[in-house]
Amino acid sequence: MADLDALAQQCGACRRCPLALGRQQVVLSRGNPKARLMLIGEAPGVQEDALGQPFVGRSGQLLDQLLAEAGLDSSRDAYICNGVKCRPPGNRKPTALELAACRPWLQQQIALVQPQVLVLVGATALQAVLGLKGPISQLRGQWQCFEGRACLPIFHPAYLLRNGSSQPGRPRDLTRADLVAVRDHLLTLK
Ligand code: SF4
Repeated sequence: MADLDALAQQCGACRRCPLALGRQQVVLSRGNPKARLMLIGEAPGVQEDALGQPFVGRSGQLLDQLLAEAGLDSSRDAYICNGVKCRPPGNRKPTALELAACRPWLQQQIALVQPQVLVLVGATALQAVLGLKGPISQLRGQWQCFEGRACLPIFHPAYLLRNGSSQPGRPRDLTRADLVAVRDHLLTLK
């Protein structure tokens, strides 16, 4: 994965958008670069900015747990990254301009990892990858296509932390079902 190393070096020096001013470091990825599954979130938060890996705070722990409940190991079965690689100040949402500025890095990650399935974690990832704006509550669980790849939007785990009920039909239960659908889809692929 020499090319991913080169990408990490180049992206690590990126100053294409104002988010470069406030970051501690660029946060590129974690997980397995040979995985068939890529999860794409929004942007690094404070812990991700400090540790240099995406989804390592409470949201990331919940994401790992939900993946595990679906029979997927976040280190072995997934490559995890964000639409924007630098932390927005105050953990605000990245702007459309910041998403556009960072998009070439995401495109290169997809080109190098060649995932067969994309999971778009939250509404911002949906906007970053597919350009779709809309309520994630309506779009989650609906398979989409991105450059020939199956692509599934899911709730962001930060939202699930604020809506913690595991009752049937609640967001957490729906997300678990979405990730089971992802696992089942992966099983159908060669
Ligand atoms: S957010 Fe993306 S485009 Fe902006 S400085 Fe960081 S790596 Fe570069």
